[in-house]
Amino acid sequence: MRRRIGIVGAGWTGAVAGRLLTEAGFAVEVMEKTSVVGGHSRAETMNGVVYEPNGAHIFHTSNAAVHQFVNAHGLTRVYDHKVLTEIFLSPDDGDDEGRLLSWPPQVDELKELPVWPTVERELASLPPEPAGDNFEDYVVSMMGRTLYDLFIRDYTAKQWGRPAVDLSARFAPKRVELRDDGHRGLFRDRWQYFPPNGINEVIESVLSTVAVTLDTEITVDDADRLGQDYDAVVITAALDDFARCPGELEWRGIEMRSSYTPTDDPARVLTPAYVTNRPSARVPYTRTVETKHATGQQIGGTVVSEEMPGAPRRHYPVLTADGANERRNAELAQTIAGHFDIPVYFAGRLATYRYINQDEAIADAMAVAERVAADLSG
Ligand SMILES: Cc1cc2nc3c(=O)[nH]c(=O)nc-3n(C[C@H](O)[C@H](O)[C@H](O)COP(=O)(O)OP(=O)(O)OC[C@H]3O[C@@H](n4cnc5c(N)ncnc54)[C@H](O)[C@@H]3O)c2cc1C
Repeated sequence: MRRRIGIVGAGWTGAVAGRLLTEAGFAVEVMEKTSVVGGHSRAETMNGVVYEPNGAHIFHTSNAAVHQFVNAHGLTRVYDHKVLTEIFLSPDDGDDEGRLLSWPPQVDELKELPVWPTVERELASLPPEPAGDNFEDYVVSMMGRTLYDLFIRDYTAKQWGRPAVDLSARFAPKRVELRDDGHRGLFRDRWQYFPPNGINEVIESVLSTVAVTLDTEITVDDADRLGQDYDAVVITAALDDFARCPGELEWRGIEMRSSYTPTDDPARVLTPAYVTNRPSARVPYTRTVETKHATGQQIGGTVVSEEMPGAPRRHYPVLTADGANERRNAELAQTIAGHFDIPVYFAGRLATYRYINQDEAIADAMAVAERVAADLSG
């Protein structure tokens, strides 16, 4: 008889693990609590305009196996993602006009600013390697105080709802950079894509051969039933949610305040870029997102979303300098596994409480599928 695998969640991780385990000959069921697949990466439409209710999602990877997999499922439209950021040189002066610069900051653009002499002095006295345990110290050691204040300080405080000294330096290298090589794209990965209709079609293609049950929330209370129905379970849900102890883990969420505007010109967009960072404390949102820049949709309207931080949703794990939340997640994983008498695997962004991108979620799914297959075939 075919071995049976239950998978909790139909985002990238659940979808890819489901597909690979189905292809490996297992009887797989993916259970999803909402009425749609795709998780956080999912796009929606408003009056026909594709937009992203969970924030901008650009697919980028240097992982050849991940690339080959998504390519085979139709993710082929090349897209070079460039971000702009609006900075104000006098933070408290309402008459000061914002300036649009590249993100990450480019030295050649910074040289045009009146604050360049100060920035140049600060850059000349940086340590040879960035250092510091918390986010602020680390980033100041990378770019100096003036650039930190202009580009990072208020953005970080808005995004995380706490001062940057309370945050871990661990994710700074991934998020913050000062460029002097002229490379304007946000990412340096070998492959970058944005599908014309959003990512849904790709994830739906991955799931096309997999049994999916929608509108089904699974929690630790279902452990006995899962133990009867399956030989192993893969959990991609947030563990505090799954264990029914909300508040046990700290999360930071966003709310995309999205509004539709009709346009006479089908190519018209209203903001300067797909993603425009708004680091100033003058506005409560952290960035604006206008997905039409990326899709290239020709349609008589557009949707602009203001990304409001602080919503009570599980979007970002909060990686504090002391690592307490990650330890709590590991404890929850152990507690949950203790409720099952079948093997339980945790994978993906939510269940492993990691700040990972779509390609990393796919790689995670590939790894967990391999582990499950090896364990159950042995
Ligand atoms: C604001 C934001 C911006 C991002 N931008 C990018 C980007 O530009 N590029 C990039 O590559 N990545 C980006 N990411 C990361 C990307 O969203 C994730 O890496 C990816 O979605 C992770 O997939 P996943 O399947 O692990 O989790 P999810 O997509 O969260 O999927 C989990 C699924 O499980 C379901 N579920 C949860 N609990 C249960 C339960 N108890 N029972 C049943 N089902 C359940 C959920 O409904 C969901 O469908 C961004 C993330 C966020 C939050």
